[in-house]
Amino acid sequence: MNAEELKSFLKNRLPPEINRLILHAAELAASQNLHLYLVGGLVRDFLLNKTPKDADLVLAANAIKFGQGLLEGFNYKATLHPRFNNLSADINGFKLDISTARNEFYPDPGKLPEVLEGDIKADLFRRDFKINAMALSLSPQDFGCLVDPYNGLTDLKQHKLSVLHPKSFRDDPSRIWRALRYSERLGFDISSETLTLLQRDAQLIPLIGADRLRYEMECIFKEAKPENILLKAEETGVLKNSLPFIKADNWPADKFAEARNMYGENVSPEIYLCLLSVRLDKPQAEALITGLHLSKYISACLRDYQCLAEHLAELGRVDLSPSRLYGILVKCKKEARQAFNIANDNPIVRKHLMLFQEELSGIKPCLKGTDLLTLGFAPGPDIKTVLAELLNLKLDGKIPSRTDEIDYVKRRQADDQV
Ligand code: ATP
Repeated sequence: MNAEELKSFLKNRLPPEINRLILHAAELAASQNLHLYLVGGLVRDFLLNKTPKDADLVLAANAIKFGQGLLEGFNYKATLHPRFNNLSADINGFKLDISTARNEFYPDPGKLPEVLEGDIKADLFRRDFKINAMALSLSPQDFGCLVDPYNGLTDLKQHKLSVLHPKSFRDDPSRIWRALRYSERLGFDISSETLTLLQRDAQLIPLIGADRLRYEMECIFKEAKPENILLKAEETGVLKNSLPFIKADNWPADKFAEARNMYGENVSPEIYLCLLSVRLDKPQAEALITGLHLSKYISACLRDYQCLAEHLAELGRVDLSPSRLYGILVKCKKEARQAFNIANDNPIVRKHLMLFQEELSGIKPCLKGTDLLTLGFAPGPDIKTVLAELLNLKLDGKIPSRTDEIDYVKRRQADDQV
């Protein structure tokens, strides 16, 4: 490792504004006689020559003050975390974290740590895995030098993932999911000691709470093949300790892959979660919503999925009228329909979903409420009823033109007057 290698990595693998900010941070730290380091994922990705997703800087000084000085004059959004003395900046969608080097002390498993000021070595010791516990100096005297007190480089070269100490998963059980995620993403094996600890401590996962568990799931759904992580979670007992109703076997795994084939690489978490909920009944789907403290929107998708499942037999009928099909599907979120499409191989169901998506969902009567008023309807709930009737007749192809719609409305008025 040398300064030039790091400089060219930063230049070639990071957005230009991040590269400039990091170099500017290095100069600023030097001018204040502070040691500044790159840490965590970026260091790992540098050593693996992969493109980093974010950048973490650490210094043994007040990071909030330093970060505010660094970002002065720029219009980037910064979030302060006084509890940890961190600053997190959003640089055009790229996350730059600046942290104060710290020691952490975990009072209880799964609880947030108590924080003490520390040096870089202590800061690296609080991290999840040895491969994430390395730093690169940005100080002028040793720019680009690797700080690797826990032999992360050895693990990296052996394609191995291991925790820094046996209490690691107890301190923070969310690291269990992180282990499965990195192992899949990097193609690294979890070391046998770490795997034993992971299985021993999997029962502590509920201690992290719904929000942190949901965050871990969200991270997993962003990976290239989330199904492999879930299969591993099933195999190691992590899944049953996290989401007791969910079973990850080849069925959801195949369906996840099919979802990407059908809808592109970036499948939404809503679709993945609906697919995971396919074999759940209503109370279990509700337990999943609570267990992950899901947002209103995702919860609605899961509930819509349950509703679609209740209509499966009807959706598979060849003689289903377009208006009835529309009535069933129009209330459902798009992601629930997409997941239902993937989950069901029945060609008639798929044809109906396609018909709705491609044609029916765009159909509207030509007449509007104002036209009905002009045609003599009194303002009130009748207008809505007539518009709904017009839509259904139009969906079923019974009133194709505007004239047909007007004729229908007039006939209806005449009937009402009899
Ligand atoms: P990614 O490429 O997924 O962003 P990353 O390593 O940058 O990987 P982050 O979640 O951004 O991951 O975390 C940054 C660093 O903070 C990690 O590399 C790790 O050193 C540390 N870290 C994050 N979460 C934990 C945790 N739960 N326990 C210990 N250390 C953690």
